[in-house]
Amino acid sequence: MSAESRTPRFATQAIHAGAAPDPATGARAQPIYFTNGFVFDSTEQAADIFAMRRTGFSYSRGSNPTVAALERRVAALEGAKAAVAVSSGQSAVLLVLMTLMKSGDAYVASPRLFGGSLGLMRRLDGRYDLKPQFAKGLSPADFEAAITPETRAIVCESIVNPCATVMDLEGISAVARRHGLPLVVDNTLASPALIRPIEYGADIVVHSTSKFLGGSGQTIGGVICDAGSFDWTKTSAYNLITDPWPDYDGLVITERFPEISFAVACRLFGLRDLGPGLSPMNAFLTLTGIETLPLRMERHCANARAVAAYLKDHPKVDWVSYPGLPGQPGEALAKRYVPQGPGSIFTFALKGGEAAAIRFIMSLELVSHLVNIGEIKSLAIHPATTTHRQLADDEKAAACVGPETVRLSIGLESVEDLIADIEQALAKVG
Ligand SMILES: *Cc1c(COP(=O)(O)O)cnc(C)c1O
Repeated sequence: MSAESRTPRFATQAIHAGAAPDPATGARAQPIYFTNGFVFDSTEQAADIFAMRRTGFSYSRGSNPTVAALERRVAALEGAKAAVAVSSGQSAVLLVLMTLMKSGDAYVASPRLFGGSLGLMRRLDGRYDLKPQFAKGLSPADFEAAITPETRAIVCESIVNPCATVMDLEGISAVARRHGLPLVVDNTLASPALIRPIEYGADIVVHSTSKFLGGSGQTIGGVICDAGSFDWTKTSAYNLITDPWPDYDGLVITERFPEISFAVACRLFGLRDLGPGLSPMNAFLTLTGIETLPLRMERHCANARAVAAYLKDHPKVDWVSYPGLPGQPGEALAKRYVPQGPGSIFTFALKGGEAAAIRFIMSLELVSHLVNIGEIKSLAIHPATTTHRQLADDEKAAACVGPETVRLSIGLESVEDLIADIEQALAKVG
């Protein structure tokens, strides 16, 4: 067999990467290690683990075997060198920004992002002077134009929540490279089954595992992936990663862990100091969800495409934002980056405005009115009054979530039943 055919492919890794039968008991499913502490063999071993001179478990705030299995699996699927699991997607974004920057630093951000990320960025700006520099548009040139000497990173989503816009990751990563900046990509809406941002030059990939990775809408979680590709030592700007840590006997992360420096910094600062770790139970449920990710994403994409095509031709619908359909804005980028389809979260607008959008949502019977996305069940929400309510009107327009807009997250039900439900709800709209 050639080396290439021995490398497990994506669906195999989704089931096996990072977890093996339990050596102690033979248990085939990943055991859930509900323990805060781990007994040390000696005081020397305890001291070594604390000082990062050797690896090992000490206290589950910093790492736990069940959580570590999830971290290894997501890292494998993303093609990353290491991953750090955290308590939510929100804390994944927070820890990345806090690990990369200190007060007074700035980062270029996409103008189209998940509402919770925009809200967090605004709060961090106001209270901690971490400045988002929003690009004027979505093209690589727009991102480049926003860069200043204070810029420390570029942040975007691979597929944008909620409007399904597919970003030009290769173009944006070329800009990042030219300016010596790490590219951070939130890959929640694509999942590694549709896009692996590291293959296009991303240095850090974040996930809300609450969505497609978990898949069943049961647990909140997040993951930070370190591609191991960025050279942090070229400037003194990333001093949390490159400077000695006096409280760890002068540990220099980039020297001791050159391939996973960012992940180690996130773990020491983000988990040991700040503390938003993931519960072993939630890690177990997420691992189980990931086992079926490739299969689910195929069906999510097929169902979303059929529903979007139905809506596009409906007389009460003004527009549909799903670049997987022919003739849509962003079609070329969608074809290039997501030949399977741009996921299953998208927006559409009703000709009858806000009243029609609200009537539509309240008339759905099979599709649930709730705020999550990426679940097996189909979901609908009115973003202008919920997920994106903090945005000013012009920001809502930039995020394409006006009052007439509905966000759908298409699940895995029989698509005929989904279209029938949407059809009866549209019939009730004036
Ligand atoms: C949901 C979401 C988040 C936040 O994740 P939580 O797990 O809800 O905290 C971050 N980014 C994107 C793109 C999301 O959709």
